[in-house]
Amino acid sequence: MKWTIRELIRTTADYLRKKGIDEPRLTTELLLSHSLGIKRVELYLNFDKPLTARDLDTFREFIKRRLVHEPVQFIIGNTGFMGLEIATREGVFIPRQETEILVSAVKLWLEDRGLEECILYDIGTGTGAIAISLAHFFPKVKIFASDISEIALRCARENALMRNLTEPITFLSGDLLEPFAEIENADIIVSNPPYIAAHEIEHLPEIVKREPIEALIAGKEGLDIIQKLIEATPSHLKPEGLLAFEIGINQAEPATKLLESDGRYEKIRLVPDLRGIKRIATAVKRKS
Ligand code: SAM
Ligand code: GLN
Repeated sequence: MKWTIRELIRTTADYLRKKGIDEPRLTTELLLSHSLGIKRVELYLNFDKPLTARDLDTFREFIKRRLVHEPVQFIIGNTGFMGLEIATREGVFIPRQETEILVSAVKLWLEDRGLEECILYDIGTGTGAIAISLAHFFPKVKIFASDISEIALRCARENALMRNLTEPITFLSGDLLEPFAEIENADIIVSNPPYIAAHEIEHLPEIVKREPIEALIAGKEGLDIIQKLIEATPSHLKPEGLLAFEIGINQAEPATKLLESDGRYEKIRLVPDLRGIKRIATAVKRKS
């Protein structure tokens, strides 16, 4: 029997569902369109098309990889972020939906102030998703994006190159704010740092364990990097500049305390996601 796209999607999605794979239909469609070398919407335009044995072989290989917990984004090599396609690589953290809230908060800040030609740092840039989307929305903003991982920086540079954004974004290698010693102070410092507590590692889903551990874990309470970021930021931020960073579930209170007790910040705010979970902390550096 020859499989049509329609039947293959239905049968595979049912199979993945039974195997406990998240988003079985979406996964099937992404892997099938990738194996056929077409866009996802084109599957719908070719629903009754019979597939060749070769098409099926490639698709089966992708499904096998997903069943052994390889993320779809690593198999197909990209993900969507703020409406843009971002290249992903094994060994580099996959951009998450919740980080779009962080980018939106920064976007709002820039728009409210009509800030165009300002300086922004993205600390721990990973694939470059935050830096690239902000450079895309605000072409005049000068962005410095850093990471401690060379693989991440390579991936981020590739993403910038693909979007012709190597001019507005400068990449720096090193620990937190260390590589910024010679760089002019920022109007905005943004970061999605690692914030998972060390003891949670065993409970992480297998699929998340495929991502680099240094991108996820930050000490006993998951607050080590956030704490260092809060301490180091004021010497690199202009007065009334913004620090905006992502936090884990249950970190709103400790993160607020860290910002308050530092004494150099004011206007501390928390931004919730659609479920009401506080996901982002923002604070402004005091004038003096
Ligand atoms: N910003 C990307 C995003 O939102 O998709 C990646 C976020 S990922 C959770 C954290 C990133 O911080 C990783 O790319 C990791 O390599 C980097 N990182 C971890 N520790 C760091 C440090 N001390 N200094 C700079 N970057 C660090
Ligand atoms: N939200 C990510 C996860 O749950 C963690 C991101 C981070 O540590 N910054 O996998």
